[in-house]
Formats: sequence, structure tokens, C-alpha cells
Amino acid sequence: MSKPVPIHIVRQLDRLASTIAADPSAQSIGPGARLQDRRGRPLRDLRISVTDRCNFRCAYCMPKAAFGKDHRYLPHEALLSFEEITRLARQFVALGVQKIRITGGEPLLRKGIEQLIEQLATLRSPVGDAIDIAMTTNGSLLERKARALKAAGLQRVTVSLDALDDAVFQRMNDVGFPVAKVLSGIEAAQAAGIANIKVNMVVQRGVNEQQIVPMARFFQGTGVTLRFIEYMDVGSTNGWRMDDMVAGEEVERRVASELPLIPLHANAPGETAQRWGYADARGEHDPRLGEIGVISSVTQAFCGDCNRARLSTEGRLYSCLFAGQGHDLRQLLRNPSTVTDETLSGVIAAIWQRRTDRYSEQRSSRSSIHGALPTHRPEMSYIGG
Ligand code: SAM
Ligand code: SF4
Ligand code: SF4
Repeated sequence: MSKPVPIHIVRQLDRLASTIAADPSAQSIGPGARLQDRRGRPLRDLRISVTDRCNFRCAYCMPKAAFGKDHRYLPHEALLSFEEITRLARQFVALGVQKIRITGGEPLLRKGIEQLIEQLATLRSPVGDAIDIAMTTNGSLLERKARALKAAGLQRVTVSLDALDDAVFQRMNDVGFPVAKVLSGIEAAQAAGIANIKVNMVVQRGVNEQQIVPMARFFQGTGVTLRFIEYMDVGSTNGWRMDDMVAGEEVERRVASELPLIPLHANAPGETAQRWGYADARGEHDPRLGEIGVISSVTQAFCGDCNRARLSTEGRLYSCLFAGQGHDLRQLLRNPSTVTDETLSGVIAAIWQRRTDRYSEQRSSRSSIHGALPTHRPEMSYIGG
């Protein structure tokens, strides 16, 4: 005889069932149907945080004051297993997700991460296309792992590197980690044949702004695309102030004053970066010199075509980086006697169809940043960057 279903699960399923029932459009999601949120945005991109741990302490993300030696990480059993992640990812892919990014915390700290990549690489879209699998990493373990990741099916890697100057970088990661080891990781990724490599640099006023041009020079012509990111007010531990952010426009001006740039078209709808190509002597883009990207998440909100969902380390679904609350999918997942793939898919679809998030747009239209903040904001290391 099957075990009785715990009462709290029954209540949660009831609530989710009425969520779906209350939204008539949620009923129409089947093969071929087009899933959209309330603002007409499709679901295309899924970011999965596989661990809340990290070996760096970047002050803009996991400052030592909040993530000290006594910080309590999630226990292992709280994390979604690889099988659970893959089962959920399959539902997301059936609903339109074309790209999956593995992130964290530091994703390469999760034991056996290449096995997860292998499992995700077997997923296919409803029309049989392979899914684009990417990872964002601080690069500290990449030299050791690049070949295995590539063999497992990783197609893209984004390495975070905030400075080339060793003293600046070590201060920023706050654990004394040297630049050279991150650069070796990038080289190892290139040697392993990972074709699409990007570098993310978060620019902070008075901290690493002097590194903008040296970083651009260093990566020009290497096949690695450098992307400058505006420092964001994500989470509630980094003490963000608008004055600490360097606007994307200023970054563009600084690079262009030394290395001529011309604007390039977006590669895909919902792309977060404004692309700038390096120009040759005739003022035309020279693909051999490559390009940079500028992600102006604060000064030029791109909520209008945001197609990203985030799955936290413990299986909560967030429809926005700044959403106060996530939806607990783990609790559903761990009761196989009550939850079928159809229910999971229906719940995810219903959550997406009710989505109205546009935090960054609201932030830009308010004089006080704090007016737009939800009371609890998840940390980037938990929700996945
Ligand atoms: N540990 C990995 C890494 O650093 O690449 C993956 C997780 S990290 C949270 C993902 C990305 O978020 C990194 O590129 C990091 O620079 C960026 N990030 C973290 N906090 C940020 C903030 N406050 N503003 C802008 N970007 C931030
Ligand atoms: Fe760690 Fe990445 Fe956050 Fe830095 S940005 S503390 S490397 S999770
Ligand atoms: Fe997307 Fe939210 Fe960022 Fe807007 S604020 S771009 S909705 S994640």
C-alpha cells in the first residue's frame, strides 16, 4: 500500500492546482503552444545555481563580513541532486528553454559537476534541437577541469575576472587568489576546444576602473570576448551605492578613446550585452580583433525582453534576479507519489504565465532606489548570476 501523502504537501499541491486553474491560459500549454509571461516574454534561458559555496569572497557578492568562517552553507541534502536538476530542466526545455547556464556560488566546487553537464547535454527541444549548455565560473579550478567539462558537453564558458593587475585582483577576490591561475584556466578552456569563451568584469568606481583599458587591450584579438558589467544592487549584503557603479556608457567611452569601436547588432533576442566590435584602420569591424560587450543592467534596464528564469541551489524558482520570493519546486519534486512530470510542467508554466517582473525598469523610473526593493532579496551566490 502506498504511504499517505503528508498534509502540507497536499495543501501545497492544492494551492498550486488552484494557481493553474485560476489562470485560463495555463491550460493551453501543450506541444507547440507558446508560453509567454504577462508581458509577452517567452521562457528561453534557465540559470541553475548548483552550490551556494565559493572559494572567493568578492565584496560585491559574498563579502567576508556576511560570509565569514561561521557562515552556514546549505547542508548537502538541501541541494537538488543532479537527477532532480535534470528532471526539472527537462520540463523547462519542453516549455521553451534553449539555453542552460550552470552557476552558483562557484559551480566547479560541486563534486562531479561534469556528470550534470553530461545529463543536461542529452536534453532535446520539442523540435529535436540540442540545448546550449554554458557555465559561469571564477576560473580557479578551470585549468584542472576544462577537458572533462568539454568532453561532457560544455559549449560555452564565462570566466569572471575583474582585473589583470595582481594586487587589484587579489584584493577584489579577498582570498589572495592570483590572476595567473585564472588566465591558465582560460588557456586550458581554449586548448580543450571550448569555442565560446567570455570574460566578465564587474566594474567598481575607485576599485578596478583603471583596469578597463588594460583588460580590453589584453583580450583584443584573442578570441575571448570581454564583457563589462555594471555593479548591481543584487542581494542585501554588499552595501551597494549608486556612486560605486561605473555606467556602461562611461566604460564604452574609455575603451573607445584608446581602441576604436563600432556598434554591432544583438546576436539574439533578450541578449543582455550591448556589443561593440573593434574597428580596423578603415573604421570597419575587424572580426579578427573581436568585440566587447557592455552589460548596463542598472543604467539601461533590459527587462522588456528578459527571458530568464533562475533555479536556486535548493530548488526554488525565481522569475527575476530581484524577486523577493522563489517558488519551492524541491518540495514537489521529492514526492514522486504525488507529482508527475505533467504537474511539474504545469506549475512551471503557471508561474511563468503570471510573471510581471521588471525590477530594473522600476528602479530607473524611481528617484529613490530603495522604493523598488522587495523586503527580502536573495543573494547572487544563492540564486545564480
Ligand atoms: N562564482 C562564479 C563566478 O564568479 O563567475 C559564478 C557565480 S557569480 C554570482 C556570477 C556572476 O555574477 C559573476 O560574473 C559575478 O561577477 C557577477 N556578480 C556577482 N555579484 C554581482 C553584482 N553585485 N553586480 C554585478 N555582477 C555581479
Ligand atoms: Fe564567488 Fe562568483 Fe560571488 Fe565572486 S562573484 S564571490 S567568485 S560566487
Ligand atoms: Fe529580468 Fe528582473 Fe533583471 Fe528585469 S530586473 S532584466 S526582469 S532579471
